[in-house]
Order: sequence, then C-alpha cells, then structure tokens
Amino acid sequence: MRIVLLGPPGSGKGTQAALLVAQLGVPHISTGALLRNAAKRGTELGLQAKSITDKGELVPDDIMSDMIEERLSRDDLDNGFILDGYPRNLAQAKSLDIMLERLDKPADVAIHIDIDPEQIIKRIARREKEEGRADDTEKTVRNRMRVYAEQTAPVADYYAERGLLTRVLGNGPKEEISQRILSVLTIDRQST
Ligand code: ADP
Repeated sequence: MRIVLLGPPGSGKGTQAALLVAQLGVPHISTGALLRNAAKRGTELGLQAKSITDKGELVPDDIMSDMIEERLSRDDLDNGFILDGYPRNLAQAKSLDIMLERLDKPADVAIHIDIDPEQIIKRIARREKEEGRADDTEKTVRNRMRVYAEQTAPVADYYAERGLLTRVLGNGPKEEISQRILSVLTIDRQST
C-alpha cells in the first residue's frame, strides 16, 4: 500500500500516519519530521529550513525534492509507505509522480483528512503547549493555513483528477478516524 496522506496543518496526519504504521507495518515518511530532525542535528540545511518553517512558509522545492528522493531511494519500501507532508504544491506533486514512476512504486491512493479551520486553531494551540513546536504559534498557524489553502489544496484536486483521492472526515476520536481510513484502504484494495 503506497499512501499519500493530505490535509491541512493540525488535521492529524502525523497521528493517523502513526496509527496506520501500527496496522500496516510500512514506513512513515514525514517531511516535517525530516526537517525538524535536520534542524535538531544542526545541519546547514536543517538550520536554513528552520528559518522558513518557523514562519510557516514552504521550504524550496529543490531542497524538498532532494530530501524526499533520498528517502524514497532506501530499500525499505517494498511493502509500501505512508507519505505525510509531501507533496505540498503542484510542482512537488508532479515531481513525486516522476520519482515514483522511476522507482516503479506509483501511489495507490491519496487520502485527504478534512477538518474545519476552527478545530485546527484549537488543536494546534493545545499542541503548542504539549510539544512546543516553534511553528505552532497562532500567527504562524494562520500563515500555514493560508499557504495550505493557496498551494496545497490544489494537490488534492490533482489526485482527484487521477481518480486516486478519497476524503475522510477528521473529527472525532483518533481511533475512529483511523477506522475510516482503514475502511477506505480495504475498499481500495478490493477494487484493484
Ligand atoms: P503540518 O502539516 O502540521 O503543517 P508538518 O510537520 O508536515 O506540519 O510541516 C511543518 C513545516 O515543514 C511546514 O509548515 C513547512 O514549512 C515545512 N515542510 C514540510 N514539508 C514540506 C514540503 N513538502 N515542502 C515545503 N515545505 C515543507
């Protein structure tokens, strides 16, 4: 199962990806986590990226495509993967398609977690207290939501046009949302 997980900031992509990993046993590839790790290690790229992520802007496509290409080239993806945080704009979506085609691992399904903006602000305010992520301040979150609407929302349409997109309601207990996603995956599997 090669899954692309989409959804606005705070929609619970990371949480759902972790639950899916437990169920499906495939690697979780999170570009947000890769960037935060690079920043924590203090690499030049990591520090450069941090000044951008802290403002809620997107890290340039060439940096991201190198990062994701390196990760996708490892040999642990034979049973699939859960991609979380990439692609985030149409250029990234197109370059991902080319990369996955070349690796003979095209995406099977894109799942968009739907959530309303008020919920997002509430959830992220709580996460800021619990995890202290530098990009979880209210100002940055609003910018991330704007960037999402302008640049990332069209990515969902891109997958919809290819018949790969399913939308899942992202409210309620996380286990329930996970069940919704798993039932989508089961249906998808039966139809292929
Ligand atoms: P969220 O989805 O909650 O906004 P992520 O952890 O996925 O959080 O991403 C955090 C930040 O990392 C983003 O706001 C962005 O600045 C940067 N980032 C992550 N993935 C990408 C990407 N594919 N392209 C550009 N920037 C990215």
